[in-house]
Amino acid sequence: MAGDCETRRLMSHRFYCPQLAEAGSVTLTDSEAHHLAHVLRSQPDDIVELFNGNGLVATCRVVLIRKRDVELEVQSARSEEPPQKILTIATAVPKGDRFDWLIEKATELGVSRLIPLTTSRSVVDPRTSKLDKLRQTVVAACKQSGRNHLMEIGAVTSWPEFIKQFVPDHTVLIAHPQGDSLESIGSLVANHEKPLLVAIGPEGGFSEVEIQLALRAGAKSVALGRQILRIETAAIGLAAKFLL
Ligand code: SAM
Repeated sequence: MAGDCETRRLMSHRFYCPQLAEAGSVTLTDSEAHHLAHVLRSQPDDIVELFNGNGLVATCRVVLIRKRDVELEVQSARSEEPPQKILTIATAVPKGDRFDWLIEKATELGVSRLIPLTTSRSVVDPRTSKLDKLRQTVVAACKQSGRNHLMEIGAVTSWPEFIKQFVPDHTVLIAHPQGDSLESIGSLVANHEKPLLVAIGPEGGFSEVEIQLALRAGAKSVALGRQILRIETAAIGLAAKFLL
């Protein structure tokens, strides 16, 4: 076994391991094993950090590197409470890489859950396969930012279904250029008793019918200044306002 002076600490490198336990041995597989063994060229006795995406974080020692997996031993572990500030973003899906960008930044900022929306003017229909890829973006952003609870990506939800399912149990703010000013609803936001949820529309905007349907169910609409923002700018601007 290597002595202490030979032990490499790769603690700035974190690995996602859903089956992590508080003690004993653990095996990294697939892309996480590849990253540790082949990209970082890890060696036995290296020290790294593993997290399970549900608050458990462990310092682990590399024991054995095989072709397809890496065996490690948990040295110490701690459980982290979920963040106190909870925010859900429900959003229409922007084109191309912009959704990936939105997911990465929302994860870094600490958004709890993201729900992809379809609305009457949506042009991008998020497919399940694409959502699986976006979950990998969540993991990568957690690894990089030190976040230990994964951001949940919910099922694709239509606007009428969203109103039925989420408006009754949440304080819902719909981003809408013709909405109330953020200042005018400041006390509602400061004293909200139900969890906060912000909704962002597609590039063509929400239709008036969609806005009225949500307002009648108890949502509020809110304007974010004079300029028309892209979907991802509106989403990340609101997340930063409520989480930082
Ligand atoms: N012409 C569209 C409209 O009037 O809604 C613009 C749509 S904008 C490109 C995409 C989404 O971002 C909007 O549906 C809204 O949710 C949000 N958004 C953009 N700029 C906004 C602003 N100034 N205030 C509130 N929401 C905004």
